[in-house]
Amino acid sequence: MANDIEQVIIIGSGPAGYTAALYTARANLNPLVIEGFLWGGLLQQTTEVENYPGYPEGVMGPEMMQQLRDQAERFGTRFLTDQATRVEPGHRGEPHTVWVDDEPFKARTVVLAMGAEHRKLGVPGEEELGGRGVSYCATCDAAFYKDKPTIIVGGGDSAMEEAIFLAKFASEVDVVHRRDDFRASKIMLERARAAGNINFLTPYVVEEFRAGDEGKKLEYARLRNVQTEEIVEQPMAGAFIAVGHDPQSEIVRDIVETDENGYVKVEGRSTRTNVPGILAAGDLVDHTYRQAITAAGSGCQAALDAQWYLRDNPDVPTPEALEGVGDLAEAQWAPAAK
Ligand code: NAP
Repeated sequence: MANDIEQVIIIGSGPAGYTAALYTARANLNPLVIEGFLWGGLLQQTTEVENYPGYPEGVMGPEMMQQLRDQAERFGTRFLTDQATRVEPGHRGEPHTVWVDDEPFKARTVVLAMGAEHRKLGVPGEEELGGRGVSYCATCDAAFYKDKPTIIVGGGDSAMEEAIFLAKFASEVDVVHRRDDFRASKIMLERARAAGNINFLTPYVVEEFRAGDEGKKLEYARLRNVQTEEIVEQPMAGAFIAVGHDPQSEIVRDIVETDENGYVKVEGRSTRTNVPGILAAGDLVDHTYRQAITAAGSGCQAALDAQWYLRDNPDVPTPEALEGVGDLAEAQWAPAAK
């Protein structure tokens, strides 16, 4: 199939990407989603999602992502299960180009929805016990640790926020932080101190997470005091890691404006980046709310911003820019995964 200029290409396949796809598909824009090899975003790594409206019984993260994908597909979304490697903005009325390795895809509008990745500690047991005691989202998983001992790793506002939320469920929350000083704001620290069942373990780092004899669930962590080198084996049912997020903006950092942490900047409450026709949504933009529902909402906004851009710029790309387009390489469309 010859690849003409797409109306909209969406990069990313979390709630923001698939919602942008749903809306642009329903607007007959025939979107193409470049969804990565591990489509579905961070929710693919989650177990049960209980806080997404419309699922009174809760839903497993991967199942929910399959449903969002199916819904977008129902209205004509096409998916490319591959990794976008570069984005080249169109100049002087030319279309934008999204590269997948050495294959170019042209589009009048591009929605960036690559999301963010939880920063990992990189210690033994962290990966193996992911979803079995080790988690990166207390807002999502705290309810599974009712009356159980837990820890939060980190000393920033996210760690305090997670600790305060978790403390409503867990019997105890130990905040494990590598320094005696906290990066978190005073007010968040005060709120955490006021909770009653939040303790502070400093200056400690996690050396390793360990399962019990059956190897199924997290049972304890080995903590090391960085001043005295003392090792503590701390029993716990849940460990929440909140040492920051990294937006997955590498492929666009020299193209659109980003802040000092790499989050893509948008104009006001819109999803417009500083490059006309390039929109950004979800966790790639948002370091504050970071919820599936807020990401989905901003994916919807990006779809509407794309529609309005196309409506208001009917002559972009210009006829000159269209010369030679239409003979691009054959695209390898992936069948929808079930
Ligand atoms: P952050 O402010 O960068 O804090 C990350 C924390 O993790 C720091 O305490 C850091 O320790 C620690 N850390 C980083 N790498 C580590 C490692 N490998 N091992 C152990 N500890 C490690 O990130 P954040 O808390 O996610 O906050 C991000 C931004 O969002 C901030 O601007 C924050 O104010 C904002 N935010 C605001 C709110 C709110 O106001 N309600 C809530 C959440 C987030 P060091 O301090 O030693 O570097």
